[in-house]
Amino acid sequence: MLEKIIMFVKKDNDMQKNQIIELEITDLSYEAMGVAHYEGMTVFVNNALPGEIVKAKILKVKKNFAFAKIEEIVKESPDRIKVKLNQWVQTGLASLAHIKYDKQLEFKRNQVVNLLKKAHLDNVEVGQTLPSPEQVGYRNKAQVPVREIKGQLEIGFFRRHSHDLVPLTNFFTTDPEIDRVLVAVRDILRKNHVPAYDEVNNKGEVRYLDVRRSKATGEIMVILVCLHKDFPALPRVAAEVSQIPGVSGLILNHNPKKTNVILGKKDYVVFGNDQITDEIGDLKFRISPQSFFQINSLQTPRLYNLAIEKADLKPSDVVIDAYSGIGTIGLSVAKHVKAVRGIEVVRDAIKDAKDNAELNGITNAKYYLGKAEEVMPRWAKEGLKTDVVFVDPPRKGLTPEFIDATVKTGPKKVVYISCNPATMVRDLQLFQEQGYEFDRIDPVDMFPQTPHVEAVTVLEKK
Ligand code: SAH
Repeated sequence: MLEKIIMFVKKDNDMQKNQIIELEITDLSYEAMGVAHYEGMTVFVNNALPGEIVKAKILKVKKNFAFAKIEEIVKESPDRIKVKLNQWVQTGLASLAHIKYDKQLEFKRNQVVNLLKKAHLDNVEVGQTLPSPEQVGYRNKAQVPVREIKGQLEIGFFRRHSHDLVPLTNFFTTDPEIDRVLVAVRDILRKNHVPAYDEVNNKGEVRYLDVRRSKATGEIMVILVCLHKDFPALPRVAAEVSQIPGVSGLILNHNPKKTNVILGKKDYVVFGNDQITDEIGDLKFRISPQSFFQINSLQTPRLYNLAIEKADLKPSDVVIDAYSGIGTIGLSVAKHVKAVRGIEVVRDAIKDAKDNAELNGITNAKYYLGKAEEVMPRWAKEGLKTDVVFVDPPRKGLTPEFIDATVKTGPKKVVYISCNPATMVRDLQLFQEQGYEFDRIDPVDMFPQTPHVEAVTVLEKK
């Protein structure tokens, strides 16, 4: 039986690994790979752009598709721009960096248009992608892997779809002040002979450097993600890190597991503060190591304003801020509505949200720890009535249980902020089945140089 299958697979395509073929690129995949068709096969070509003709080397052959890399560009796209470091594109750190910015915005809009087409929702209008005020150096946070290469501790980024570290010191999309701190900490670790993490044997010490910087206050938090909760050189490392200008705290995050999850559950303050303070609009926000905070500081208020405009809030409104993080959306609207209830699953984020309500003198916003898909059904059962529900879930989107419960609380509007338009379109259809309508989606570029698409829409009760 197995032999038969192999025979069948073999017969289905004659493409061979290492074969070099000329391809015409017709499309860009959602991961920003050039797409070509060749003798019934779909070929994904790293870094190739639509309109280009390339000589490509086949890297991997599957039943109906293959992966390839460019050997030579025979005809170049006018949308291609020179990238200073090829590694930015190769690693997927900035896999759109070789495309002009206005074309990046178009690519993101097209992602949404294509998803709507597939869902037979062609009549939904898709706005132009809102450009980011900064196109490089915009990230207020970096999480970079630490590994040993040729006997030396290195920081960098993993090559796409792998755990091969490509050493880097300029992270391009990250605040250059953060890059400066990453390199300084790397040098301190080297000097003190602190071992890098060895993921094959789950040995060594430092797994990741996680650095966050507040644009508003300049405060910098350094998190060393370590295999153990202490190591002999830690006091010396701490003393030197404390001398890096701007660093307001050093946290050791303990992650003992053999896992791809970056952060462990426990944080230990080595010195300084365990929160940094940033600002959005005229509000201040404290952020703990485990809490989510939007990474594009200048684009975030523009994203929120778009969402808040769509909500058309009234002073009598009861508002839900689901997937609230540290309370940024709910607290931004609290002064204009009757009451806000936030839901968030990360304990430290809830603590931050409560701190942040107090810090900003807000008394009508309450934050609740739990899974949105469990808390919302409980509230619906208790008879809670809502006016506007903001949702801002992670990539996997909402659950049917959450959607059913939300509908039961009878909101006039549900404002959906999404970092994954595929799950968003899926969820919007579930709301539609329950009598909610939407006629427009606005993409927002929160992540220039990367294929990530953020989008906002409002659902209204018929
Ligand atoms: N609205 C916030 C956070 C958005 S990110 C902001 O703009 O900053 C999504 C948040 O959802 C994260 O804080 C994450 O911890 C939280 N989360 C993930 N799964 C959840 C769930 N099942 N229930 C509630 N919150 C969840």
